[in-house]
Formats: sequence, C-alpha cells, structure tokens
Amino acid sequence: MSAEHPSDRLVDRYARGDTGLPADELWAVEAHLDACAPCRARLAEAAADVPAVTSLLASVRAGLEPELDRVAPAPRRRRRLTAWATPVMGPWLAMVVGVTAVAVLLDRTAGWTWGASPVLLLAPALPLAGVAAAWSRALDPAFELTAVTPRAGLALLLRRTLTVLAVVLPVHLAAGLLTGVALAQWLLPSLALTATALALGGVIGIGRATAVLGTLWTAAVLAPAAALGRIFLLQPEHLPLWALTFAAAAGVVLVRRRVYATPEGLR
Ligand SMILES: [Zn+2]
Repeated sequence: MSAEHPSDRLVDRYARGDTGLPADELWAVEAHLDACAPCRARLAEAAADVPAVTSLLASVRAGLEPELDRVAPAPRRRRRLTAWATPVMGPWLAMVVGVTAVAVLLDRTAGWTWGASPVLLLAPALPLAGVAAAWSRALDPAFELTAVTPRAGLALLLRRTLTVLAVVLPVHLAAGLLTGVALAQWLLPSLALTATALALGGVIGIGRATAVLGTLWTAAVLAPAAALGRIFLLQPEHLPLWALTFAAAAGVVLVRRRVYATPEGLR
C-alpha cells in the first residue's frame, strides 16, 4: 500500500483505543494496517508507549505462555459463506426466478401487447434486485459485522455480485431459449446495468444506486413499452452502447476500488 499512510496522530489515537475516532477513520486505519507492514510497525511503536496496552500484553503473555506448549495446530481456515452470499438473498433470488417464470408464461400466451417479450423487458433489470438484496442493511442483520471487517471491500462486493449473476443468468438463459429472445439482447444490458450499479454505488451507496437504475429502467423501457408498445434501448443497434457502458462502468469500479473499502461505499 503506497498512498496515504495514516498520520502519526491517527496511529497514536488508534493505539490508545480512542473511542472518539470517527467510524470512517477507524475503518480506513484498519483497512490500511491490514495491508501495510511499515504502518503496523508504527502501530507497534505507538502502542509500546501506552501503559494500558503494555500491561495488557504482559498479563496476556504471562497467562498464555504455559498454554502455548500444548496448543494443537489451528484448524485449516474455511472461507465463510457470508463472503459469497447472505441469508436474505434467498427469498430475493427466489423472487427473481418467480418473476422470470411469469414473464415466460406471459410471453407464451397470446394477448401480450407491450411490443417486446416480457423476458427481454425484465431480464436486464432483475439482477439489480439481487445486488440490492446482497447489500441491504435493513435486511441483513450481520451487515455492520461484515462491513467493518477490514477485508470487506471490492473483493466482497464482486463475490456477492457474482453469486447473484450465477443464479440469475442461467435462469434468464433458459427463459431466453424458451421465448426466442436473443442472448446478447438481454445479457449485455444486464451486465451493463449491474456494473453501473456497482460504479454508481461507490458514490451514492449500492442500495440507492440500484433504486435509481431500476427507476430509470422503468421510465425509459417499461413505461414506453406499456404505453406505446415501443421499445427503446433494446434494439440490436443499441448493443454497442451497452457494451460501452459495461466497459466504462467496470473501469470506474476498478479505478475507484479503494472507495469500497469504507462502510459508506457499501451502503
Ligand atoms: Zn502505511
């Protein structure tokens, strides 16, 4: 980690266990310490001056030393499930599957007059619901716990997003085959909207980003289809536009990846 080592004052406050430290600064220091050995050395130095820490260490060492000789080796670390999914994602993913099934049924019945298959109209926006569920603070009782883990950040965000896509994309693939909707026609907008949600989420929070994009999708695609039977943004000539959006959004996420290491970036 090169950029922005925490100031001596901040490291000192952290070493003293200063409870007045703002949550975002605490988060930033912990995330930085996790990755920066020189700063861990600075922390050790700072902590050596804190009587509370040295006496605690001395008593821990005194209590621990007799035990150390007969400690069994630690069990192999297992990757926790929460890195990939949260329990609240279950109902949401079931909802996505249900909505897709209804869309297929509507497509196969006569009388659908919205100008395009409901599968095409809904498939690109449905991953947004999964991403929102994966990051919903209100729905996830362990949110604070997960978000203050120093390793949370872009890697966690990407793993959970992959979980959403791993469930949603095969379902939509099947729906596309059943209804004759071309793969690229829904897949590219799907990926572009998901990537944009992550990029925008780094600015206004994942939850708000998915809500904004869902609203835009409704206004720009669903409403005109319902009212006029006309399809915007989903014609074959728009595909390069979606590919470009996907590439741009993915680029923004990568460039701004440090944003996702703060609790604000995940909300
Ligand atoms: Zn550092």
